[in-house]
Amino acid sequence: MPNYKLVSRESKVENTVIRVGDCTIGGGAPVVIAGPCAVEEEEMMVKLACKLKRLGVHILRGGAYKPRTSPYSFQGLGVAGLRILADAGRAAGMPVITELTDAAHISDVCRYTDIIQIGSRNMQNFGLLQEVGRLKFPVMLKRGLSATLEEWLLAAEYIMAEGNREVILCERGIRSFETYTRNTFDINAIPAVKLLSHLPLIADPSHGTGRRELVLPVARAAMAAGADGVMLEVHPNPDQALSDGQQSLKPEELVSFMGELTNNTRLHTKASA
Ligand code: PEP
Ligand code: MN
Repeated sequence: MPNYKLVSRESKVENTVIRVGDCTIGGGAPVVIAGPCAVEEEEMMVKLACKLKRLGVHILRGGAYKPRTSPYSFQGLGVAGLRILADAGRAAGMPVITELTDAAHISDVCRYTDIIQIGSRNMQNFGLLQEVGRLKFPVMLKRGLSATLEEWLLAAEYIMAEGNREVILCERGIRSFETYTRNTFDINAIPAVKLLSHLPLIADPSHGTGRRELVLPVARAAMAAGADGVMLEVHPNPDQALSDGQQSLKPEELVSFMGELTNNTRLHTKASA
């Protein structure tokens, strides 16, 4: 038995399925999470959410607390952003996901969101992992920038060991020597993690590539490799986005991909040992 006992496929053979509103994650049907990197402005967010819902997107994303590399970059709108995200989700009829960066924000984040995202930079913030482990609330744990699969699964174990069983994993690319792309999306991780763990796995090709023209090809590859869904950064006007515009798609660019996902079940394969 590996050290990540509760996370391991050896401790639980059947897939974990997480229900959020009308949506199930890990239940076989591909899940699409989409929205801007950061929540910006109310009217734009509501319009975008309704458009994404019409395209078949299941869950709305948007960061209110942004862990930016530079302290001078847009840091997010905080509680005001959480309110906008919740309003947009309600208007469109979609559950929402947002990042928690600090335990001090837990009660605000839980009030306004349906899934808590723990970002790459906090994957080994063990105190924060334990805090969300004590909640009864779905948590999506992104892989750290330079984390091995074992370190990532052990980070998920920190959450589960505190009692929270609703954990979703998210592969978002790792640092490599390559500079053409922002990160190197680790396609190996998709079938490997599905074999090692029963937890649902979402692919984030937006951060995994950092270049909008690469996002959908890598999203397709991740689905073909066995991911339970994808998370895509989408903005109505990517060149004006306050964060991550270079990797954001316009909503209309999702149309054919959404069609492929619903019609082409062969895109989705399952690894076996
Ligand atoms: C994000 O989802 O916008 C984000 C900051 O992701 P990551 O933690 O993977 O960099
Ligand atoms: Mn982003």
